[in-house]
Amino acid sequence: MTDLLIIGGGIMGLWAGVMAERDGLRTLLVEREVIGAGASGGVLGALMPHMPDRWNAKKQFQFDALISLETEIAALEAATGLSAGYRRCGRLMPLAKPHLRTIALRHEQDALVNWRAGDRQFHWHVRDLPPVEDWLDSTFAESGVVFDTLAARVAPRPFLAMLSASLRRSELVRIEEGRALVRIDPVAGRADFADGSTEAFGDCVIANGVDAFAFLDGLVSAPGSSGTGVKGQAALLKADIDPSLPVVFTDGLYIVPHENGMVAVGSTSENTFDAPFSTDGQLDALLARAEDLVPGIRNAPIIERWAGLRPKAIGRDPMAGRHPDHQRIHTLTGGFKISFGIAHRLASTVITEICGKTDNSLPASFRCRAHFDLLGSEKTKAPQ
Ligand SMILES: Cc1cc2nc3c(=O)[nH]c(=O)nc-3n(C[C@H](O)[C@H](O)[C@H](O)COP(=O)(O)OP(=O)(O)OC[C@H]3O[C@@H](n4cnc5c(N)ncnc54)[C@H](O)[C@@H]3O)c2cc1C
Repeated sequence: MTDLLIIGGGIMGLWAGVMAERDGLRTLLVEREVIGAGASGGVLGALMPHMPDRWNAKKQFQFDALISLETEIAALEAATGLSAGYRRCGRLMPLAKPHLRTIALRHEQDALVNWRAGDRQFHWHVRDLPPVEDWLDSTFAESGVVFDTLAARVAPRPFLAMLSASLRRSELVRIEEGRALVRIDPVAGRADFADGSTEAFGDCVIANGVDAFAFLDGLVSAPGSSGTGVKGQAALLKADIDPSLPVVFTDGLYIVPHENGMVAVGSTSENTFDAPFSTDGQLDALLARAEDLVPGIRNAPIIERWAGLRPKAIGRDPMAGRHPDHQRIHTLTGGFKISFGIAHRLASTVITEICGKTDNSLPASFRCRAHFDLLGSEKTKAPQ
């Protein structure tokens, strides 16, 4: 009997393990393949804030998470001696048209109000020219650029390695790779695995990414699904650039400088696809756009082409917290495009709830219940 069973060794499951360990829970984390086998094992690692306008609870949650992540990573790096490849590098966004500059100037003011944490102020600067030379091709920035000072990046695989190293040092947490959940009995608190073994658990956190939705769908009788996977493709280049350069973002395209001259380029957003884990001409098109925008990466050798499935819950927001019908079951998935910046805070609210404590910071639409309410309303709409 384990206090807590965590299904999935991606960014969500690992942070759940870290938070459970802090709360003294005896925890078993099981991963079907190896740590980082899913969407979290990619190459991009952009930590992109929401826009600073029309502020709401969701934006505040993400903002607070992006700030606290810095401290969390520093502590884990100190404890493990490993690097997560984190840097608050900022983000450049070219403004191609005058009306975009007008909007950006409004956001500059919004950031002064909303992007403040204690005595730290983060900015949405509007500039005529990029603050760094020879990075973004200024012909794409006819109306100037935005330079945001809140955005950051992390190296996904080293980050996961750091989290799992921290868990492996703990006497409370066991990680078992190559062990796949096949069935769960939410009432008895029993999990069955592909190798024929079983585990009894007090609570279970379902953090197996896009595969979580099928398990959750099996626990309720509603047509439709609690979530889906959106394919993304990205590439890693060796460009020999300064690692402190800012992320460049425009129209769905990210160019993310990493340490050791590496640059990640991503990503596509595909709702329909035949081959979820392979790359194709859509990635080539993305790379061509990236080379136009940032000439410094032109002809840089491609180290890796990568594709994965982002978990997107029915409500389009992350899905976290206790299942509405099953007290022992907790969800931690659906982070879609922003998981790396918020997973630690989501995990913290889930573990706090499991421990019977109160944390009201989770926005209502992130709650597992909110997603299943939506699924229920789909059920009512479905033809009989
Ligand atoms: C191309 C691309 C670029 C992206 N870029 C960014 C970015 O820049 N910034 C950002 O924040 N996010 C980004 N994302 C999104 C982010 O990667 C995902 O939201 C996040 O990794 C999801 O983490 P997870 O832990 O929920 O799922 P996963 O990482 O998929 O982890 C789930 C794990 O569960 C395991 N598993 C599955 N089924 C079982 C089972 N039955 N039993 C046991 N284990 C099981 C899987 O093997 C997997 O390791 C990107 C995604 C893609 C595809």
